[in-house]
Amino acid sequence: MTDTRDDFVISFKPHGGYDSPLIVVKGSTAADVFDKMKSLEASGVTAEIGTFDAALKAAFTLGGGLGATPVAHPSTVPATGYAPAAPAAPAAAPAGPPPGAVAPSCPHGVKAFKTAPPASGKTWKAWMCPAPKGTPGQCPPEWMK
Ligand SMILES: [Zn+2]
Repeated sequence: MTDTRDDFVISFKPHGGYDSPLIVVKGSTAADVFDKMKSLEASGVTAEIGTFDAALKAAFTLGGGLGATPVAHPSTVPATGYAPAAPAAPAAAPAGPPPGAVAPSCPHGVKAFKTAPPASGKTWKAWMCPAPKGTPGQCPPEWMK
């Protein structure tokens, strides 16, 4: 794969006005940019840009003098302006213990409230012993309705 980045970018403005055309020449090397600049000059494109710029300004001046209004064009932007995509619905929060419930304790510590995973299709709720699963002597779940 070849490197197609344009590391060299030179911008030209024929005059210092805010309305000056902007000519940007890009290239992967300085020599590439130089070749493109010479090509632009030789092709007469720069002279055409000047002619086009003058014609554009004349049209603006003439249109303004005649009271012309810009032609409306269809827009893909909603009339209300930028409409960001609706945020995704928040994931269902894991069910917590009943309000006011105090976590019971066991010899291993304070028990944790657990519910069946939503994808399991089950609805069990229980206080679970904090000892790692498989620990000998782990307390059984305290099932809740
Ligand atoms: Zn326990």
